Amino acid sequence: MNEKRRPIVLADRDGTLIRDVPYLSRISEIALLPGVAEAIVRLNRAGIPVAIVTNQSGVARGLFPESFVPEAHARLMELFEAEGAQISGIYYCPHIRPEEIPRPDGRTLVSLVRDCDCRKPAPGLLLRALSDLFGDPSQSALIGDADRDIAAGRAAGCKEGYRILGESETPPAHPESNTTLVRSFSEAVDLYLKRRHIF
Ligand SMILES: [Mg+2]
Ligand SMILES: [Zn+2]
Repeated sequence: MNEKRRPIVLADRDGTLIRDVPYLSRISEIALLPGVAEAIVRLNRAGIPVAIVTNQSGVARGLFPESFVPEAHARLMELFEAEGAQISGIYYCPHIRPEEIPRPDGRTLVSLVRDCDCRKPAPGLLLRALSDLFGDPSQSALIGDADRDIAAGRAAGCKEGYRILGESETPPAHPESNTTLVRSFSEAVDLYLKRRHIF
């Protein structure tokens, strides 16, 4: 077993690749953020696979059926294909932790309330992607717009994390090591490729 491991980019979905709509539950709400498709094309050209890792607790919360998730992802793939951008995998977590729903209401899917290993900041989704795509964590990066994305990247052993700051968000005074603050997915990809000496 010594198949060659390679760098991959793990990307959060909402607020990173597409417009952030809390508990997005309509296909019409899916919109790529500016520069995202082009950045993925740059990664594709560099031979670096891109996987999406996304928390979708709206399923456990009963806000949309689990069947909506693959529908949304089919639409997302369509939007990327139209721009010539290739995604190698999409991984999602439908769960929520018990402490996040202290009193389940009538909508909560109790079977999905659990301490899973895949809800970020847990690294389960990332580890699956790394395994499926023969990713080498020590050459890979996580790009996301939340601290729990960065934490998941670190827990999965990713060499670098890129934290996208919101428009009005002030950068933290003491950013963590191996974490680069950026304003967009595209900026993160530029820096990642530069650091790997791929222009
Ligand atoms: Mg996000
Ligand atoms: Zn999960």
